[in-house]
Amino acid sequence: MSENRLEIRNLHARIEGVDAILKGVDLVVPRGEVHALMGPNGSGKSTLAKIMAGDPSYEVTDGDILIDGESVLEMEPDERARAGLYLAFQYPVEVPGVSIANFLRLALNARREEGDEIGVMEFYTKLQRAVKALDWDESIIERNLHEGFSGGEKKRSEILQLLVLEPRYAILDETDSGLDVDALKVVAQGVNAARGPGFGALVITHYQRLLNYIIPDKVHVMSNGRVIESGPKELAMELDVKGYDWIRAKAGETAANGASATA
Ligand code: ADP
Ligand code: MG
Repeated sequence: MSENRLEIRNLHARIEGVDAILKGVDLVVPRGEVHALMGPNGSGKSTLAKIMAGDPSYEVTDGDILIDGESVLEMEPDERARAGLYLAFQYPVEVPGVSIANFLRLALNARREEGDEIGVMEFYTKLQRAVKALDWDESIIERNLHEGFSGGEKKRSEILQLLVLEPRYAILDETDSGLDVDALKVVAQGVNAARGPGFGALVITHYQRLLNYIIPDKVHVMSNGRVIESGPKELAMELDVKGYDWIRAKAGETAANGASATA
């Protein structure tokens, strides 16, 4: 039953000196589906993403995170990547002197068994297909990773990594990056190109407008450290119009015991 899905089970987490941030998160993303995670500021969305990436500043006090039935809680970030998880922000911001092409080949080979390195032709075919899917110029692959990149180019490079590395599951936290419409479209282009039976994604966002370009199979709403509602894609539109208060009231929360309602 737990095969072929990313599962977050009753996850509780805190940070030193701070009360619990996650208070029992339950969430399942089957492989082959793209889910959206929404919710007001401070509800714990980015914390959840960082804990999935293995950020050591958070302490998991209860619950589990499973990839295809296997717990990743005890794994280092690079082991999680090898287990099939992709998190955009786990990669270095700038790598002087290393081209995108070389970086991606190294990253790809790091995920494979020793002696099973990807062939040069196979690699370039894969890379060119990904560059094309993002409407990017082919010359980009010779540029040094993120050196002098604009915000939009960095975003595109992150999504290029996603397409080349072909993870089983991707977690994209687009909440704080202040993306303009072009960057939103790049993210959507990448996720939509990656879509398929072997790929599952959790797209974290405040903005319903990202979901104009990525049509999610399911929408989850997080508030005060829990997922308080899940529903079809229409739920995102409803939240866009009505805000979060009604859904928090329905879950028995008030603004006083929850996080701030500003989104
Ligand atoms: P969201 O991404 O949904 O806006 P966050 O996960 O960023 O929410 O934050 C959830 C709550 O946890 C907030 O109240 C925030 O202040 C707190 N929090 C998150 N990270 C830290 C940290 N490193 N130190 C202290 N508090 C934190
Ligand atoms: Mg956030």
